[in-house]
Amino acid sequence: MKRALFQAEMIRSELEEIVGPAFISVEESDKLVYSTDWSWMPQMWLDRGRPLRTPDYIVHPASAEEISEIMEIANKYRIPVVPWGGGSGTQGGALPIFGGILVDTKRLDKIIEIDEKSLTVTAQAGIIGTQLEWALNEKGLTLPHYPASANCATLGGYLAPRGTGTISTKYGKAEDLVLSMEVVLPTGEIIHTPPVPQHASGPDFFRLFLGAEGTFGIITEATMQVDYLPEARLLRAVLFDDLHNALEAGRLMMTRRLDPFVIRLYDPASTLTRVRKILGYDFDGAYMVLGFDGDPDIAALQEQKAMEICARLGARDLGREPGEAWWAHRYDFYYPPQNLKLPWMYGTTETVTTYDRIEAVYYAEKKAVEEGFADWNVRFIGHFSHWFHWGVMLYSRFIIEEPPADAREALRLHNRVWNAAMQAVMANGGMINEHHGVGLKLARYMRRQYGSAWPFLLRLKRMIDPNGIMNPGKVGFGF
Ligand SMILES: Cc1cc2nc3c(=O)[nH]c(=O)nc-3n(C[C@H](O)[C@H](O)[C@H](O)COP(=O)(O)OP(=O)(O)OC[C@H]3O[C@@H](n4cnc5c(N)ncnc54)[C@H](O)[C@@H]3O)c2cc1C
Repeated sequence: MKRALFQAEMIRSELEEIVGPAFISVEESDKLVYSTDWSWMPQMWLDRGRPLRTPDYIVHPASAEEISEIMEIANKYRIPVVPWGGGSGTQGGALPIFGGILVDTKRLDKIIEIDEKSLTVTAQAGIIGTQLEWALNEKGLTLPHYPASANCATLGGYLAPRGTGTISTKYGKAEDLVLSMEVVLPTGEIIHTPPVPQHASGPDFFRLFLGAEGTFGIITEATMQVDYLPEARLLRAVLFDDLHNALEAGRLMMTRRLDPFVIRLYDPASTLTRVRKILGYDFDGAYMVLGFDGDPDIAALQEQKAMEICARLGARDLGREPGEAWWAHRYDFYYPPQNLKLPWMYGTTETVTTYDRIEAVYYAEKKAVEEGFADWNVRFIGHFSHWFHWGVMLYSRFIIEEPPADAREALRLHNRVWNAAMQAVMANGGMINEHHGVGLKLARYMRRQYGSAWPFLLRLKRMIDPNGIMNPGKVGFGF
């Protein structure tokens, strides 16, 4: 619906009354900045000179109360509200595809309390991960959610797409670390979830906001479990001839509860390309980094047991240096000059499944991508980085170095590769995603992923957000 200019101005002045004139923008340059997150599609589109839908208003509220008032306006005029943390999402979750009010949460950046007895921190949801971490480190503490995007992502952005960090294998995903939250619902109500999650006092409704990616409301505050900074961090690397034995070694470490904080297993293609380029190692096989932390004696014993498993499965011990170097350079893989970047085409089709299915998922996806798009000299690489007692996450990627020059053709090819990858994943029992979220990118697979449960989710969405204002078009809701 095209609004009359005077009405657009009226809405702007109502928003301005809430946040103050310094904290609202309708400048074209700001709108352009907020028209893309970190996903390949909009970045490619802009790179090729095509315009993107921009927000109508960008607001920077300072409290849950201000966000609640913004929701009232949005409901009154039926305007979309799009939450924006750091904009580092890779799935288009924060794109204002229908315009509307873009709510940048970064003024909600206060640490409210660090409880050194219960080991919790309560902070506003717009705080940047690294800033929160610095404050915790001063007290010898750490929030053990270490995403490669910590320098630019927010606490709310950790939780909303159910993110996973580098040391999740021991400490859990962001959603496992959160104890309670304050949320502004699409109706403007401000609610607090129970103070602790593990209780038997009714259904666990607070999980509804984890993975909703802003479609069920805006998280404004969270209490997170923290840990002591570990006394020791032991890192080591091993090399397997084949992926099968490497996956089996990881499975045994997890099912026997050896408690590694990291198992990072690169498939032979990644070992040959990304690991060689970024870390400079000339390994042929499947390179695996292992980490054990905490009490030095316990960590050493866990490492010893893990190495026994690896030796039994034919791994070569590479010693500490290739493990420690990986830890020191673990984020280099994702930042200039080493990150994948335009004009290349790429996608991270990450997935998760149980141990009995993981090899089938990996090989089916690899085949679908490599054989289906051989004409484009596609490359398929993967690593296994977040391990559970029951299964493991595959961080798979496709790369095409010479994609079509035309933006629309490039978009179509990108979608075709994603389709092939996702069909293969779902047909073999994998989930369409483990930690990047659904956003816009994966919205079209949600009906198939959820099957008979999808209409139930749609009903929940309609109940929570009766006017459909919250982040429309994301997670499969609100087209
Ligand atoms: C270099 C790089 C490395 C990355 N590494 C990792 C990694 O290791 N692990 C990982 O999990 N992800 C990773 N990501 C993906 C992404 O950074 C994370 O998902 C991150 O947590 C998103 O946080 P953000 O604040 O930038 O959120 P945004 O990108 O701003 O938003 C993401 C989604 O959450 C919604 N949202 C944001 N804030 C709120 C809120 N307060 N309430 C409700 N909804 C909200 C948005 O509407 C959007 O749908 C990486 C991204 C990059 C660019």
